[in-house]
Amino acid sequence: MQYYNEPAKKIPIRNFDVVIAGGGTGGVVAAIASARTGAKTALIEGKGYTGGIVVEGGTALHSFFNLWKAFPGIEKRQVVKGIPQEIITRLEQVGGTTGHAEMLKGYDYDSVCTAIDTELYKLVSLEMLQDASVHVFLNSFVRGVIMDKLKIQGIIVESRSGREAFYAQSFVDCTGYGDLCAYAGAKFTEPNDYPVANSIGVAGVSIEKYHDFLSKNNALSHYCEGKRSGEMNKIIRLDAKRVKPPLRFLKEGRRIGMHTVITSVHDDYFMFVKLNKKMKNSPTNRDDVSQTEVILRQRMQKAVNLIRKYIPGCEKAFITRTSPSLCIRRGRLIDCDYDISLEDIVNAQRFEDEIMVYGFHDLAPFIQIKDGGVYGIPYRALLVKDIENLYATGMMITKDFKAHMSTRNTVSCMGQGQGAGTAAALCALNELHSRELPYSLLRKHLLKDNVYLGE
Ligand SMILES: Cc1cc2nc3c(=O)[nH]c(=O)nc-3n(C[C@H](O)[C@H](O)[C@H](O)COP(=O)(O)OP(=O)(O)OC[C@H]3O[C@@H](n4cnc5c(N)ncnc54)[C@H](O)[C@@H]3O)c2cc1C
Repeated sequence: MQYYNEPAKKIPIRNFDVVIAGGGTGGVVAAIASARTGAKTALIEGKGYTGGIVVEGGTALHSFFNLWKAFPGIEKRQVVKGIPQEIITRLEQVGGTTGHAEMLKGYDYDSVCTAIDTELYKLVSLEMLQDASVHVFLNSFVRGVIMDKLKIQGIIVESRSGREAFYAQSFVDCTGYGDLCAYAGAKFTEPNDYPVANSIGVAGVSIEKYHDFLSKNNALSHYCEGKRSGEMNKIIRLDAKRVKPPLRFLKEGRRIGMHTVITSVHDDYFMFVKLNKKMKNSPTNRDDVSQTEVILRQRMQKAVNLIRKYIPGCEKAFITRTSPSLCIRRGRLIDCDYDISLEDIVNAQRFEDEIMVYGFHDLAPFIQIKDGGVYGIPYRALLVKDIENLYATGMMITKDFKAHMSTRNTVSCMGQGQGAGTAAALCALNELHSRELPYSLLRKHLLKDNVYLGE
């Protein structure tokens, strides 16, 4: 390997109170929360839109509610409110969501289905950021950090306008990959314990026809009705179960890592069909990623061919949307002051410094939170070890795979974003390090901003 020494360069400095790195699932909420708390807030997002994996990979937003339907006698509770719910409310106003529709079959997995229109989500989230006066920098990447001992002084941002230094008091890493934490020297590992995925939107199909196909073959496992193309009581979620003899569609689909769960907000459209692939190394390995991108593109086309071939009435299916690049379920796992364990989750553990509560587990009904209840996500679970002014949120926290299968889900990431964004702003405005922030002050602000803390 040959090397080249890059020459040092003078770059312009921009000053903010708070910088949020990554405008995805958690980052959008973190930036709105920070700006509304009164901090001059910059949001740095590498793509030309906001939303992250919510608009690129997922099928429905899990979950704003507890799993009440699986536990007869347990009260239905909306356990995530605040800014995440505001996004859904705004989407409802423009026909961009099914709403929180009650699952009619498969409700021991999630009692509701909240599906979204991916394109409206991008627009609505950008407009909400604008309304909150967040300084949004799109097509801009976090590429380095300027440290002052254990404190981040600024980050290096790269765009077609060149390299710039963004100085601030507090920083929140919402990049999913943990890029900012890694630049800042935080301790991390790369478990590579999930498949990566790409998802496609498929048109020229009929969810009713998919329903008839699964029903006829006794293979229906999830069923939900909600708002679709402006009409209530339409099918919005279906999933398939294994049957004997195996359905050729499911068997061939499994070979290309195809998920069979379908959600939709619009007629004649499957919003997400996911294709999975386990990587050799890690999603931060460029060469591995390049190879996997090709395989996933091939799988996408194969998936459409399977839909055309096996689902009667879907012979003219075609791809209308693909993820711009592969979607990860976990990149770097960042060391934080507290690590949420599986015991915490299944025992519905509560903490004295909670920023949110949550009631969904992706392995339900096999792993569930006790009695359809909720567990708390403590403030210290977001504090990046040994760094004084940096928070980590979303898929980069929680070590144990089975615990991560809960905390990594969209609505959890969004709630974490509100907690971290509010805390970062309070620290910046009061000149505090993240560990000096009085919890009573943070809690007061979260409750004022309609965060549900389990009372
Ligand atoms: C295929 C797939 C399907 C899923 N299905 C579901 C589901 O159905 N329901 C559910 O609830 N959850 C689902 N999940 C989990 C959930 O969607 C994710 O865990 C969650 O959205 C992650 O949120 P995040 O904020 O941590 O990261 P992201 O939403 O990925 O946000 C990270 C953002 O940071 C940006 N970024 C990255 N690096 C940089 C950089 N250096 N500089 C600037 N910007 C940067 C990215 O462009 C992105 O916008 C799924 C995940 C995957 C991968």
